[in-house]
Amino acid sequence: MQNTLLLVDDEPNILRALERVFQDEGYHILTATSGEEGLNLLTRFSVQVIISDQRMPNMTGSEFLTQVKKHYPKIIRIILSGYSDFEAIKEAINEGAIYKFLVKPWDDDLLRKEIHDAFLINTDQKEKEQNLIRLMNHAKLSGFSLKPNNDLLISENEILNAIETEQFIIYYQPIVKAQTGQLYGAEALLRWQHPKHGFLNPKDFIPLCEEMDLIIPVDTWVLHKACQQLKEWQTQGHADLSISINLSASFFNKPDLYKLVKEVLLTTQIPPDSLKLEITESLIMQNIESNIVILQQLSNLSVKISLDDFGTGYSSLSYLKNFPINTLKIDKSFIDNIVIDRNSAEIVAAIIGLAKILNLSVIAEGVETEDQLNILKEKHCDYIQGFFFSKPVPKQEFELLLNKHYPN
Ligand code: C2E
Ligand code: CA
Ligand code: CA
Repeated sequence: MQNTLLLVDDEPNILRALERVFQDEGYHILTATSGEEGLNLLTRFSVQVIISDQRMPNMTGSEFLTQVKKHYPKIIRIILSGYSDFEAIKEAINEGAIYKFLVKPWDDDLLRKEIHDAFLINTDQKEKEQNLIRLMNHAKLSGFSLKPNNDLLISENEILNAIETEQFIIYYQPIVKAQTGQLYGAEALLRWQHPKHGFLNPKDFIPLCEEMDLIIPVDTWVLHKACQQLKEWQTQGHADLSISINLSASFFNKPDLYKLVKEVLLTTQIPPDSLKLEITESLIMQNIESNIVILQQLSNLSVKISLDDFGTGYSSLSYLKNFPINTLKIDKSFIDNIVIDRNSAEIVAAIIGLAKILNLSVIAEGVETEDQLNILKEKHCDYIQGFFFSKPVPKQEFELLLNKHYPN
């Protein structure tokens, strides 16, 4: 049986250029200038691979491929489109309607190889790889540049596998008492030692985990693992140490979050008030009424809540006093400028003043210099976190910091 390739693009000259790329590959080539025409051809021919453009007048490429998936699930469906179309087709990728996203303008050899490989894929493997997102980035791409990390090829299975094979690593960053220089706690910050892509920071993979609906297992793992670690340190003599964990929006809204936290407290036996859950200010302001209920349940467990990135969202002060929260974390963007910019310094002073009135403690994030530290101490900020003391470090290195006295 001959391999049949269907090319769909509303611009005839692009169709012809694509045809030329594949003319010596031995495929049976069909062409269509619209999704409708493509669907029509599929009723008459047996096609194994489709390449479609996204921007077409009536039916977009992703709509066309969604139809194809519904009626011909075994066909390998590829979109070849501009990078700026990515947002528009993301949903279709996540739903598995698009197997691959290749970027125009293409490189002939790479494109031939991709299509050659596509014909070799069997359907079972295809199912597994549905969530694969591949951006083809090549030196010949012109007109726009892809950031190196947009090149990541990460599938759902890789993320799940990373949890099982311990490719995720938690780094810990010290939080220090401003007035005494004593270590107060650590913030757990996730890293990924990826077998192919190397060492990844959260910005490279947390948004992907969120898009693929996999952030809940990831956050659950971090919560368990970091609390276990805290217990170990507490048992070794650092009884007052606390741990701060970042919660994503979907994790915070998980219906049984309360139960999960309770279970972690039970299994690790850490004092509940040594667990601090960090939620961003903008998340908390979204569904205020239901969030207050969730916060109340958590605070009934005696765990502590911090508002992260404080100052960047739009907190209504009248609500703030109703929230069962404990700490404000002043966003790094204010700290960056406190030495040189009076406004930033005044905002920071005002946030600290507000916190005192509301009986909340304050952490300044992203403190990098001694001058910044001195201003913050002068303004009676309670806790300091930042590169001035230490970057986030792996467990073994954090243990060296446990007994250190910090400059104050
Ligand atoms: P975040 O919660 O605001 O964490 C603080 C970020 O600021 C960290 O970046 C930290 O390394 C960085 N930082 C701390 N002090 C300094 C400083 O003095 N200078 C500079 N330039 N940066 C500083 P990181 O580790 O890359 O984390 C980025 C974000 O990823 C975090 O922002 C948090 O929102 C998210 N994240 C990290 N771990 C997790 C996790 O386990 N679950 C979830 N859902 N999100 C996480
Ligand atoms: Ca945080
Ligand atoms: Ca923050």
